[in-house]
This record gives sequence, C-alpha cells and structure tokens, in this order.
Amino acid sequence: MKALHNFLILLSITLISPHIISSKLLAQGSSSGAKDTVKVIPISHGSLILEIADNTIYIDPTGGAEAYTNYKIPTIVLITDIHGDHLNLDTLNGLDLSNSLIIAPQAVIDKLPASMKSTTKVLNNDDTFKSEVLSITAIPMYNLREETLKFHPKGRGNGYIVEASGERIYISGDTEDIPEMRSLQNIDKAFVCMNLPYTMTIERAASAVLDFKPIEVFPYHYRGTNGFSDVEAFKQMVESENKGITVTLLKWY
Ligand SMILES: [Zn+2]
Repeated sequence: MKALHNFLILLSITLISPHIISSKLLAQGSSSGAKDTVKVIPISHGSLILEIADNTIYIDPTGGAEAYTNYKIPTIVLITDIHGDHLNLDTLNGLDLSNSLIIAPQAVIDKLPASMKSTTKVLNNDDTFKSEVLSITAIPMYNLREETLKFHPKGRGNGYIVEASGERIYISGDTEDIPEMRSLQNIDKAFVCMNLPYTMTIERAASAVLDFKPIEVFPYHYRGTNGFSDVEAFKQMVESENKGITVTLLKWY
C-alpha cells in the first residue's frame, strides 16, 4: 500500500518554475513520531545512503544491488554525474525503485533507459526540488585546473544540498574547490571529495572546508589513480585550524 501511495504522490509532482520543482508530498508519514535525525551509511567511494525525514536517499548507488540488500529501499535516488562511479545502470537495474524518484542532471537522465524515465526529475545546477519534508538543491561541480577541465566541465554534473529536519547536508560530487563550495553557508554535514587527478588535493579540500565551515565533514571519494588520499592528514589540517569543525572518517573502502 505504501508503495502505491507514494507512486501516486510521484504522479502529482508538478513543475512550477524552471528552478523550483515541487511535489505535494514525498514519503511522509512516520510511524514513530520521534524527532528525525540523519543516518549516514557509507557504501563505497562516492556512494552513500542518507536516512532523513522518513526518506531513504541513495546517492550515486554503485557496486551492484547486493551492496544494498541490508538497507531500506530508496524513496529518492540522487545521481551526480555520468561516470561509472556515480551512474551505474547495472546497480540501478537491480534495485527496487518502485518507491523512488530519481533526481539527476540532464546529462545523466539522457543515459537512463526509457523504463526509468517516468519516475525521474531533471535537476540542473541551481535548481531546487521541494517536497513537504525536504528540499534538494543542485550545486555546480567542476574542475578548475586547465589539465583537468576535461573530467568535469561546469554545468554537466550536480553536487547537492539536502535540507530536512533542520539539517543542511552538502554532497560535493566530483569537484575542485570552486567558489560555489567556498561560499556555502550553514552546512551541518558535508561530504567532500578529494582524489587525484579527478578532483582535488587534500590541501585544496581543507582550504575550501575552512572557508565554508560546516559543522561536520566526511571525506569521501578519496581513491585516485595512485591510491588513497591522506584523509588523516586532511583531518589534522582542518581541525587544527578550526576547532569548531569535526572531520569524521568513515569506512568507504
Ligand atoms: Zn567520481
């Protein structure tokens, strides 16, 4: 019944402006009534699950559907970009998406099979999706260095801010320390990439984090072509400069 209920809600989603996509309600209805908190579940590299405000949000699900068998099925799937460590059709095809809205930039939507497109919403840079319980805003993600511009051109992929239950959660996607990241405000939790050559060094990531001052930072997406970035050193750099920021190291690999 819940799946049918939510499917009907998905059908009610309307586009009310080029930048605001609104649904009447997405996955509301808690049985507990307890105050919501955010649950963070690292899956691997750039893939994670957020449980917040009665929603289960899969971000860049990869690694095969079996990586998700122990978790709730998604109400929202957020995809950041077209590369295989973010958009993985084998994984998507294996998941139960009957209760899900897939939110992604146009470049990703273009690569989805027709069977998925009926429950998909395009969100491009700076667009916002709103339901009664949460909002999701697409933040630009792109490379800055001349030699890396080919990896992530500006405008194609999305980072995201998920806002619900009084929390603002930033997921960087694959990016360097762009001004749009440095100028973020009131971020409670931030997932920040740091791998080479595709994104940025730990020094640039630390510098950006010290600018936008999230309360808690989770290094993620830190395996590069020559191994792992030194996230312990990143933690030291950030926490020694600003005691108000906590760097939390989770098991991503
Ligand atoms: Zn990536």
